[in-house]
Amino acid sequence: MTEARMAEAATRRDVVVVGAGFGGMYAVYKFREMGHDVAGIEAGGNVGGVWYWNRYPGARCDLMSVDYSYGFHEGIQQEWTWSEQFAAQPEILAYANFVADRLDLRKHFQFETRVTSAIWDEHAQLWRVTTDRGEVIEAPFCIMSTGPLSIPKDPEIEGIERFKGQLLRAQKWPHEPVDFAGKRVGVIGTGSSGVQIIQTVGRQAEALYVYQRTPSWTLPMRNHDLTPDYIDEMKRHYPELRQAMRMNPTGGTRPVSTRPFFSLPPSQRRDVMEHAWQDGGHTFLACFSDLLLNQEANDQVADFVREKIEGIVDDPQTAEALKPRGYPIFARRPCLDTEYYETYNLPHVHLKDCLKDPIVEITEKGILTESGEVELDVLIFATGYDALTGALLAFDVRGRDGRRLKDKWKGGPSSYLGMMIEGFPNLFTTCGPNGPAALANIITISENDVDWIASLITHMKEHGLTSAEPSADAENSWMEIVHALAAKSLVRKAQTWWVGSNVKGKPTGLTMFVGGFNKYREYCDAAAATGYADLQFAGVEKFDEAYAHG
Ligand code: NAP
Repeated sequence: MTEARMAEAATRRDVVVVGAGFGGMYAVYKFREMGHDVAGIEAGGNVGGVWYWNRYPGARCDLMSVDYSYGFHEGIQQEWTWSEQFAAQPEILAYANFVADRLDLRKHFQFETRVTSAIWDEHAQLWRVTTDRGEVIEAPFCIMSTGPLSIPKDPEIEGIERFKGQLLRAQKWPHEPVDFAGKRVGVIGTGSSGVQIIQTVGRQAEALYVYQRTPSWTLPMRNHDLTPDYIDEMKRHYPELRQAMRMNPTGGTRPVSTRPFFSLPPSQRRDVMEHAWQDGGHTFLACFSDLLLNQEANDQVADFVREKIEGIVDDPQTAEALKPRGYPIFARRPCLDTEYYETYNLPHVHLKDCLKDPIVEITEKGILTESGEVELDVLIFATGYDALTGALLAFDVRGRDGRRLKDKWKGGPSSYLGMMIEGFPNLFTTCGPNGPAALANIITISENDVDWIASLITHMKEHGLTSAEPSADAENSWMEIVHALAAKSLVRKAQTWWVGSNVKGKPTGLTMFVGGFNKYREYCDAAAATGYADLQFAGVEKFDEAYAHG
């Protein structure tokens, strides 16, 4: 279709929001409440984002429910009651649906629809977004709430299509329950998803074979039901809790210590670690200030956790294979588990160490490693995502002068505050690849990002401006901050999706903001306080034409 024909056939809106996860849902609500005509587009059949797709057995959030929930709406906070300290996927999905009903959000979304391109029209000062249903939506503003973890990645192993048993993917689990009783099950992947699947399916299947390449660090979750007293207290104090979350490096309520590891004598350090282990959750991450900065401190904490693994796992060879080595603890996303290591004490659970005995191929019957074939009825991939940039590069995004985002980011993502991209006016990302996504609470970040974008759009409207984009200098300055912090962090030392090394051919490097959510928010606030001095604006005379609905 020519541009003129596309424009003729297009539906006109003020804002397009891509994604109905927690970022996209809040964006749709916020812009609607501001009086804008909003179009939401979502590939899934309903709201919930990653929680809509990830229905695997044992799926659970390892952020506390009080943290992993919206703070922008007092009615929702008071009406919704969490049942557990760490909520399971069905409850989180129910929460997303509750929010969608309560705020009447679904009517703004078109579900089971994928964006195929988003192209900036400089002359008309708007984005032209096309979908796989053949529609074209035009809007001055386009918000990509596509999520850092939404493009599943299969393992790069020969023969996947040959397997005649049941093949399941953690990231796109069937909606109907899967019965593992009497089945021989194989799991490839021991990240957060794999750990949760293994500890759950290991107790249901006739035999479980875990194909582990890199062992993960996992800590006890020690989940429990929330008591009525705790819930009352939480509901009474939500305003203070939300305020504390905004001041916290993780965007959560758990305080983070300012005490460096070596500031305590050895016996006290051990007591602190033992207490953190017994307390469960992410207490461990918060009990010293320098675990991701000081290699020696990190080594000692790693030794402590390796000792714990040894104490739990009966078979010394299995225990040895489960102990992570060669990369800092917490430099790979730490998992929280419920009797994960204990699972390997069950006689029908077998650890296959792919570092010593690599997978050769997937066969019709199961998995062939160098030492032989294991026959399986069910094979589960828990092999992660093309994270952070995958969803944004999954379709054709073209900015000013037809510049493609794929080309701009061929050496890795760069943006301003993880929210705006030089050369791509009025395009916004929430939880973008150069912000603190993945290292802090994604709901807190989403609320911050949507609010920031909303304030900027209000500013533009008040000043009759049709487009905004960061200057090249502003983007470079932000990326210098990101890189300088990354250079000091031990996070860059592990091969993970955090640095892009899990996807063949992907540019690698730590491009996330590792300075903590609180610092990130301060940068965002400061940028707005200057009257958006880092941005270049266009417009005025064409304002009414380009932005007619708001
Ligand atoms: P992941 O952390 O990227 O783990 C993928 C796993 O697959 C790794 O163990 C990887 O091993 C393995 N793998 C990939 N290709 C392989 C191959 N060819 N042979 C053998 N092993 C292979 O992915 P994930 O577990 O889905 O987790 C992604 C993120 O989602 C987490 O870090 C977390 O942020 C989020 N998540 C959170 C929760 C929660 O809140 N509890 C639950 C699930 C997911 P290598 O490391 O050796 O490549």
